[in-house]
Amino acid sequence: MIYVDPTETIEKLRAMNAKRILLQLPDGLKPRVFEYFNALSKEFNVIVSSEGFYGACDTGTMDVYGKVDCIVQLGHSRIPNIDYPIPVIFEEYLEEAQENFQNVDFSVISNSGYKKIGVLYSIQYKDTAENVKEHMRKIGFEVYTGKKDNRISYDGQVLGCNYSSLHSISGEVDCFLVISTGIFHSLGAQLSTDKEVFILDLNDRSLTSMMERTERIKRKRYLSIFSVKEKNKFAVVVDSKVGQYRIKVAEKIMEILKRNGKEVVLVYTNESNPTDFSNMRADAVVFTGCPRVPIDDQERYEMPVLTVTEFFMVFNGNGNGRYVMDEIVGVDPVR
Ligand code: SF4
Repeated sequence: MIYVDPTETIEKLRAMNAKRILLQLPDGLKPRVFEYFNALSKEFNVIVSSEGFYGACDTGTMDVYGKVDCIVQLGHSRIPNIDYPIPVIFEEYLEEAQENFQNVDFSVISNSGYKKIGVLYSIQYKDTAENVKEHMRKIGFEVYTGKKDNRISYDGQVLGCNYSSLHSISGEVDCFLVISTGIFHSLGAQLSTDKEVFILDLNDRSLTSMMERTERIKRKRYLSIFSVKEKNKFAVVVDSKVGQYRIKVAEKIMEILKRNGKEVVLVYTNESNPTDFSNMRADAVVFTGCPRVPIDDQERYEMPVLTVTEFFMVFNGNGNGRYVMDEIVGVDPVR
């Protein structure tokens, strides 16, 4: 159960003397929209965004910014190093701290010979992670919490595009445990390290290794990655979302492609549409926005779509044959 308490948000809105509010909810929280809208609209002029959005990296398009005083976004934690163009209040809907992992069999980790575990979590399991860590200590594991960088709000937290909490303790631990639901965060974690990553999925109360399925995904990525060298027409895509905007690296990629005799177009988007690139007759796409678009959505595109680091693996020889996960540390200012 996710808890709802807009009291703190209302106090912040009063303090900033906000009148007009844009309310953004991810699909998973849309069933609570009436409840939340009613609470806020007693005092403020609220409109609800019906646009899809993906994380704290995405606060909608510029055209809305002049029409509201503040955005209230539910379900995500602030990305500290983004310079948001207008005030944004992030209401971090945490799952109530759970104990329902007590019957999960952690021996799958100890049977692999691991003792020192780095524990990571997606934001809604921040409180639950403390309970899991305590439980793991009691059953004999040494538990580590990694330090975050400036794109992350809390130590131990991960985003699908940032595993700084993992890298900071990589030298100290035997393996990692990601507390989440679905494989989105644990897949990214396994792509970013050679150490084994386990997922503790609290929906189905299972604990499994990500190693094998990540290897299958990597094999598919390599097919895309190494097919592009022979391609001729490239679309280099910049996503205009405030937390995905990487124009400088896009320009660098353009230069390298031109030096290699390729035809290149620079494309701006706020919602990447596979049909656009088919209509452009592009042979390949390099996507500098969310790195999970190429990894998770490749099958929607007719042509290979590479992340930034995958591009540099092919054209600069980065990684020495090892897969390099594209992680966002910082973005360029959108102005
Ligand atoms: S860039 Fe992608 S993975 Fe990173 S926060 Fe945004 S939607 Fe999530």
